[in-house]
Amino acid sequence: KKYGRPEPTIFSKIIDKTIPAAIIYEDDKCLAFRDVNPQAPVHFLVIPRIPIPRISEAHDDDASLLGHLLIVAKNIAKKEGLGEGYRVVINDGKNGAQSVYHLHIHVLGGRQMKWPPG
Ligand code: 5GP
Repeated sequence: KKYGRPEPTIFSKIIDKTIPAAIIYEDDKCLAFRDVNPQAPVHFLVIPRIPIPRISEAHDDDASLLGHLLIVAKNIAKKEGLGEGYRVVINDGKNGAQSVYHLHIHVLGGRQMKWPPG
């Protein structure tokens, strides 16, 4: 499967466990860990093991993997006590303010979020 930007990112090292992260969930397709610079009382990332650089480069046959990431995100949110609600974000590319080019779903909660985000 061909994706652009095949260079490994810092998230590959988290997957390989060559750098530490506060991992809160793992399975054969994905893992989740706490964001090192949290923007809410609860802020974690869900990432696929395969290095899809960004959501805009996902393929039609990634659909089940992408669905899995969302189901994992909502299951962890429940475990983290986010019953009052939370925000799920995917930043894509420059205008989306993406900084790490390994697809990741942000889940933010534990405080009142604002909309629009700006
Ligand atoms: P982006 O702007 O690409 O959507 O978000 C990347 C996120 O990854 C940021 O919220 C940033 O704090 C987080 N991040 C970057 N490097 C690391 C790291 O080495 N460990 C962890 N746990 N989070 C990271």
